[in-house]
This record gives sequence, structure tokens and C-alpha cells, in this order.
Amino acid sequence: MRDSTVTVPETLLAALKSHDRVLIAAHANPDGDAAGASAALGWTLRTLGKEVLLYNETGFPDYLGWLRLPSPVLRDISALPGKPGLVVALDSGDAARLGEGIQGLLREVPVVNIDHHPGNPEYGSAANWVDPAMPATGEMIGHLAEALELPLEGALAEAVYVALVSDTGSFAYGNTRPSTLRMAARLLEGGLDIAGIRAKLDNNWSEGKLRLWGRLMSDVRILDGGRLGVALISRSLPDEYGALREDAEGFVEQLRRIKGVRVALLLREVEKDGRIMTRVSLRSSGADDVRKVAAQFGGGGHRNAAGATVDLPPEKTLAVIQPYIRHVWN
Ligand code: AMP
Ligand code: MN
Ligand code: MN
Repeated sequence: MRDSTVTVPETLLAALKSHDRVLIAAHANPDGDAAGASAALGWTLRTLGKEVLLYNETGFPDYLGWLRLPSPVLRDISALPGKPGLVVALDSGDAARLGEGIQGLLREVPVVNIDHHPGNPEYGSAANWVDPAMPATGEMIGHLAEALELPLEGALAEAVYVALVSDTGSFAYGNTRPSTLRMAARLLEGGLDIAGIRAKLDNNWSEGKLRLWGRLMSDVRILDGGRLGVALISRSLPDEYGALREDAEGFVEQLRRIKGVRVALLLREVEKDGRIMTRVSLRSSGADDVRKVAAQFGGGGHRNAAGATVDLPPEKTLAVIQPYIRHVWN
């Protein structure tokens, strides 16, 4: 059953229908929404009889290794056997977030852009569906599948659900809409095993991850009179606990739990092209806008969840970002 409150653009449906070989890409370092939306669209197009290629510059994270995929995830465009007829970009607020490797292809073939980030410049040459009121790109793919008269069942339903819970904090953030909950109800009606997915997503930590989080919790810095909660992670810290770098994903949500904290800031040291840089994750609540802070550093995101990569080590990043964060409550 389709949701009468949501309209999927006809241009988008037409673009998808007119190509038989489709490459699906999402932003690099994908979260559950980027990966789930990619898988969900892949299953949708496979069911329509199309050849589906999944692409992600950094691959999908290990913690989503159980997610059923319609095809393997390619990380190298040059290894493609021939060109796709169409590229669909998902959950990527601008074309650059898809990674450098795909930029040439984006100029050569028609592009469909499906996303929920405010400020998305509608970079799709064939069609754009950009709706910042949508909590997750995965919800958009669910509506798209239903517009194509596919029931939300099996691997498709699983992928949509992973996207929804990832970007709504399991239906708890302010971005959750009635249409999101109605879609979750249809997923359940289709036989989705939500407890099974919860176990795979959450009750699946390594001992090292738990110990890493323990260390991060004891090292938390509370700054600016209790309004700013900060955690810094060096590149070597996860190794000390036998944890993976991706195990720090989601820790920023813990900082937001502290009473009085209005901005949560996670600073992860990364190395790119031989340079030490910092991946910044920002969280806030209600009217407090952290997207503006991320945008000052070339990043983006949503009002209450944003990020950027800064060309400085973590301590220096904290020093330069802190004055901008004070604007959030001033
Ligand atoms: P994260 O903190 O990595 O979970 O990201 C939170 C939000 O910020 C997501 O909506 C991301 O799409 C967005 N975001 C994270 N990093 C960047 C970046 N480097 N550029 C633009 N948006 C970003
Ligand atoms: Mn995302
Ligand atoms: Mn998203």
C-alpha cells in the first residue's frame, strides 16, 4: 500500500525505467542510511529485471556485513566492465561526497540524485528528488519501491529498515514523521524480523569495542560551562583495545546524553594521502543548528547531526571549531 502523503517524481521513475544497467552510489564512509538505501534500491531495480552495480568509494562497514546485497560493492570505477547507462546517487548532499573516483563517470552518464540533505544543489542531470523533510534516504527508496508496486518484503524491507533506524535513532529523533512510522508498520506487515535486525545491529559488539567506549567515556571533556561535550580519538586508540576504527561510530550520541550538553563533538584522527586530518561529528537537539558549524569547515549534514573533515589534527581542530560552536547557543 502506498502512502498518499508522498509523491515520487515522475521524472525519476521515467529515468529509472529507461535504463537496464544502473550503478548505485552513496556517500563515502557510508552510515546505515547510505548503505541501506543503496541495498534497497538495488533490490528494487533487480526485481524490475535490471542489472545493478553497487559502488562505494570506501566500501560498506563491517558492522553491516550481514546486510543482504543484490551485488557486491565495487570500490574501483576503473574495474567496471563497461559503462552503466545511469548512475543513481543516494544520501549525498553534494556530488563530491560520492568520492573522487566516480567524478568522471558523473560527467559521462545521466545521473539521478535522491537525497534528504538541506542545501543539496540538485546535481542530478537526469532527475532530482531532494526532500529535507524526509528523515532518511531509505524512506524515499521505500516510497519509490511502492510507487513501482513492489511490496516491502524480504531483503528490500530489511535494507529500508536499517536506513530508517540509522537516521532516526530508531524512531526517536525529531526528524521521525508519521509517514516513517507508517512505513515501519508496512515493513512489519511484510514479515520483517525487527528483533533479529536489532540483535545484528546492536548486540554484536566485540569486547574491544566495549572497552574502547569505556575509555572514551572516562576521557570525555566537558567544556564551555557544561554546554559542549567532546571526545577525541587518535588513530592508534582503537588498536590499544583490539577495536576497529569504525567502532567509534555512534559514540557522539553518548555525549549528547549528558544533562546540559547542547553540542556533542566527536573528533577522529584519520590519515588521508599521507596527511593527518580529523573527521568531525556534531550533534545537537531542537533549534540548535550544528550544520552551520560543519558548513564553516566545508562539511554539511542536518540541523541536529552534521559532519566535516578538517585538515588539522584533533586538538587543533578543537581549538579552531570551538568558537564557531559557541554561536550555536549565542
Ligand atoms: P556523522 O557524524 O558522520 O554521522 O554525520 C552526520 C551527518 O553529517 C550526516 O548527515 C552526514 O551526511 C553529514 N556529514 C558528515 N561528514 C560530512 C562531510 N565531510 N561533508 C558533508 N556532510 C557530512
Ligand atoms: Mn548518511
Ligand atoms: Mn541520510
